[in-house]
Amino acid sequence: VDDVVTVLITGAAGQIGYALAPMVCAGAATGPGKKIALKLLDVEFASEALRGVKMEIMDCAFDACVSVDVFTDCEKACEGVDVAIMVGGFPRKQGMERKDVLGKNVAIYKQQASALASKAKKDVKIVVVANPANTNAKILAKFAPSIPRGNVTCMTRLDHNRALAQLGERSGKATIEVKNAIIWGNHSSTQYPDVNHATIEGKPAREVIGNDAYLDGDFVDVVRARGAAIIEARKLSSALSAASSVCDHVYDWIHGTKEGEWTSMGVISDGSYGVPEGLVYSFPVTCTGGKWQIVQGLSIDERSRKLMDESAKELTEEFELAEQCLAE
Ligand code: NDP
Repeated sequence: VDDVVTVLITGAAGQIGYALAPMVCAGAATGPGKKIALKLLDVEFASEALRGVKMEIMDCAFDACVSVDVFTDCEKACEGVDVAIMVGGFPRKQGMERKDVLGKNVAIYKQQASALASKAKKDVKIVVVANPANTNAKILAKFAPSIPRGNVTCMTRLDHNRALAQLGERSGKATIEVKNAIIWGNHSSTQYPDVNHATIEGKPAREVIGNDAYLDGDFVDVVRARGAAIIEARKLSSALSAASSVCDHVYDWIHGTKEGEWTSMGVISDGSYGVPEGLVYSFPVTCTGGKWQIVQGLSIDERSRKLMDESAKELTEEFELAEQCLAE
């Protein structure tokens, strides 16, 4: 049936998965009028917990959810999938650097690429959440050459939403009044939250806030370090906001961004803004007809240029390291 969307969540027994599955079943990712066939994948070790998630989803009796199935076999999980939300990943344990987890995760994403390419729908839309998200997505795209390049993305929407929320709070306005912030680059501490084109109630954010030192300093630091601040407060990493942002990412991709507005998505660079072609890099994008386009023609000042290049450099190095790990 046409109005049933098959949605796969990997790493579904984890904490983001626990927050995300009910949001997806309530239609937050695919929108009103769609039925959801939910497929949940996790590793064997987590299969009991996954069974528990399934029981809870069943007990929510969501109107839109026509089925919920759990898997530990990736190929079976990928069968017929329209939207794949890739949350599963090897966790960063205490003392591990981001780069330590890279090797483990790129191997997972290489394997999952083959499963998606052979079993999912040909026009499957993929969003990678698990870190290192940009590089996992690039590896996935590389090893799933039959999936259109444009269909492989990574999530930087949480960083984008964090930027909007900070600007809203600082200006004393509701977050919905803040538009067109940008997250450039890697979903890491080198990401560049850019306010140069952002508006608050239609006026330039820099004018409304009137404090460039804050916008170029603390604002950037707070957005970059928000994940760590949440871990400190909650003793657990952000899950609710990550899940909500995945839904925003998928919803806008399918249904389109609003007139005059853009969002941020990690997408394969076509060389726009001097970002090396082929990197999965976060850009300002608009979406129409189920496709994203990078917003063109924005002015980039010297400071922005430097920050954007730093993040691109990190991504280039991360990808080289990923390839080394895969070759070993
Ligand atoms: P979470 O659900 O909290 O996180 C899952 C992934 O999302 C991690 O890579 C994490 O990266 C990333 N992430 C967390 N917060 C954010 C954020 N705010 N923005 C963007 N990305 C974020 O982890 P859990 O450990 O609870 O769950 C992971 C699941 O994956 C488990 O159920 C596990 O069994 C499964 N898994 C699957 C594997 C596989 O598919 N082969 C292998 C290993 C595990 P970070 O660590 O940097 O926060």
